[in-house]
Amino acid sequence: MDLECPYCEQELDICHDDGFGYEEGVKHQYECPHCGKSFVFETSISFYYEPEKADCLNDGNHDYQLTHTYPKEFSKMRCSMCGDEREMTDEERIKFNIGTKQSYMDSLR
Ligand SMILES: [Zn+2]
Ligand SMILES: [Zn+2]
Repeated sequence: MDLECPYCEQELDICHDDGFGYEEGVKHQYECPHCGKSFVFETSISFYYEPEKADCLNDGNHDYQLTHTYPKEFSKMRCSMCGDEREMTDEERIKFNIGTKQSYMDSLR
């Protein structure tokens, strides 16, 4: 954690040995090693979540979309909602006109 000394505005690294300074909503006393003045700080640990609906995890119908992979033979199907990935089926390879990985490897020879 980094903070600035409110007196001399030097950036400080708080030493968290023994868990010092982690408790939230409490004033922690600290002595600035630069100017020698004491000050207090409060810790606020914030987590950030970004929720998105994933209907497919509830009703089981994933919305698989073709990934844009190069070479295209290595494309997969990825669900636009939950991010699940799976290999293309043979039917999908025909539908999207994409050969198998093996056919790509063979074409390199
Ligand atoms: Zn200071
Ligand atoms: Zn899904």
